[in-house]
Amino acid sequence: MARLARAGPHFAVGLHQCAAVAQHLLHFAAHVAAHSGIDAFVHAFESYLSLQTNLITDAINLQAIELLASNIRPFVANRGNLEAGLNMLCGSALAGMTFGQTGLGNVHCMARFIGAQFHLSHGLSNALCLPHVARFNLVANPQKFARVAAAMGRPAQQWPTLDAAHAAVEAIQNMCLDLGIPPRLRDVGVTEDCFDEMAQLCTQANYNRWNPRHTTTADFRALFEKAF
Ligand SMILES: [Zn+2]
Repeated sequence: MARLARAGPHFAVGLHQCAAVAQHLLHFAAHVAAHSGIDAFVHAFESYLSLQTNLITDAINLQAIELLASNIRPFVANRGNLEAGLNMLCGSALAGMTFGQTGLGNVHCMARFIGAQFHLSHGLSNALCLPHVARFNLVANPQKFARVAAAMGRPAQQWPTLDAAHAAVEAIQNMCLDLGIPPRLRDVGVTEDCFDEMAQLCTQANYNRWNPRHTTTADFRALFEKAF
């Protein structure tokens, strides 16, 4: 915050307005903060891993991942933590600048149909799918997963690329666990009978334009099963 406060008058005005917005975050219930915070993280994560990135979206998304991953726990624990709230807003805004250009991935694809079918919020639907899709997508781009691990606070620069990539998946699983996300789809009332239909809908939605690993209908079915 001190560094931000020295950034000059124009930035200070922006910060002041941002702080006013952040005051409203006080009224968020903890689970709403967790679900919407993870949704913001998924925007940055899926945008970073997309097939349609460039150096600028990569730089923005890594910054967003770092801000969101390092502030989401203290923010969910205490929505009155203004510094954490501001950093969450900034991380969310950064990711929002890129994903319209890069597209998103399988987390948003699957969450779209789970949310609609079982009346779950967008953020919770994303959070339930995130660890499983991250594990599935790792093989498509271990180098980028390794950089995600570093952005999430792991000393990944010292590690072999694949070890660091797996550490990113582990960091994502821990984030969901720490924030109280139910571990299984069945825990929130999802039933298996729709998996065939939802897998077909996922394929038709054509997130293969963006998702780093090509995903078939059978893959989507397997991902729903894993998450179940
Ligand atoms: Zn979203």
